[in-house]
Amino acid sequence: DDIPTPRRIKALDQDVVNKIAAGEIIVAPVHALKELIENAVDAGSTSLEILVKEGGLKLLQITDNGCGIDKEDLPILCERFTTSKLQKFEDLQTISTYGFRGEALASISHISHLTVTTKTRHSPTAWRAYYEGGKLVPAKPGQSPDPKPTAGRQGTQITVEDLFYNVPTRRRAFRSPSDEYNKIIDMVGRYAIHCSHVAFSCKKHGESCASIAVQADSSRIDRIRQIYGSSVANELTEFSTFDDRWGFKASGYATNANYSTKKTTLLLFINNRCVESSNIKKAIEQTYSSFLPKNGHPFVYLSLEIDPRRVDVNVHPTKREVNFLNEDEIIQAICENLREKLASVDASRTFVTQS
Ligand code: ADP
Ligand code: MG
Repeated sequence: DDIPTPRRIKALDQDVVNKIAAGEIIVAPVHALKELIENAVDAGSTSLEILVKEGGLKLLQITDNGCGIDKEDLPILCERFTTSKLQKFEDLQTISTYGFRGEALASISHISHLTVTTKTRHSPTAWRAYYEGGKLVPAKPGQSPDPKPTAGRQGTQITVEDLFYNVPTRRRAFRSPSDEYNKIIDMVGRYAIHCSHVAFSCKKHGESCASIAVQADSSRIDRIRQIYGSSVANELTEFSTFDDRWGFKASGYATNANYSTKKTTLLLFINNRCVESSNIKKAIEQTYSSFLPKNGHPFVYLSLEIDPRRVDVNVHPTKREVNFLNEDEIIQAICENLREKLASVDASRTFVTQS
């Protein structure tokens, strides 16, 4: 007869499970970098230096001047679900940092060669550790995997080499390192604009000139000018609104009716995390449609702070999407505020040309 016999069910190797999980979180080099930037900012850094080789596939290095990591924590740093940011499930309701589930470094260590050099304020020396598959490994075969003392400044340097070296199908999917580098520059620029008081630099290995260089003391408008140019920065209107009923505060900068371009640029941060929202983007474009020529689009930087109890950040390990309560009401309130601002700038412009 032709009834097939069932194949036996077996558990996947832990190593395979970890690689699958890592590939879900880190799809491209930019996703690793975003996690590393968020960790550096969480650590209280005021300076982030980023170095990139081959679009991040050969090298991604980020050096911060934050609190550093205790030597005693280095052995479990890259294990899955090890974090200093979350203890109880209820803590998810008040989480104020970027990270929370301790998966980023673990994921990265499963699909790259990861080196961590770190120094806390009270440690007399910096420590260097090498990781693979979530665990400490020796620098060279035969040596001990224990962290080694080394010279180094206060803060942490994370070096990610050969990303996806053991995931050949993923590795082959990257046709152009320069596309990956552009995604990295775009993401660094977003955080450089959002994180005021933090200096950012991002450089391609071997180039003397940085692609992004922002001083710690430069204003938000100056940051926008450096990254998106004067044509954007000269036409910005500040906006801000809040409503306690929906538990939110929103503020940002948006271009006025004098500026128009082919595609909308939306820099969206929800509770300090760079996220995407097609609903918010659509509503903003709708708001601008009565101010801009047909096919004209704005630049908008929007920082939305929502009471953490109303946000579900746990929807997906990538955390690229965020769900929150009263989304429609909040979007409507923001767009109403934006419309008023744009209308008043438009009116004053008309007034100037008439006089
Ligand atoms: P999460 O950010 O979700 O806690 P990660 O895997 O990104 O998980 O990081 C694990 C832990 O490592 C963090 O909770 C933090 O304590 C520490 N850590 C990571 N990066 C840094 C850094 N740049 N400076 C100081 N501590 C760090
Ligand atoms: Mg993190």
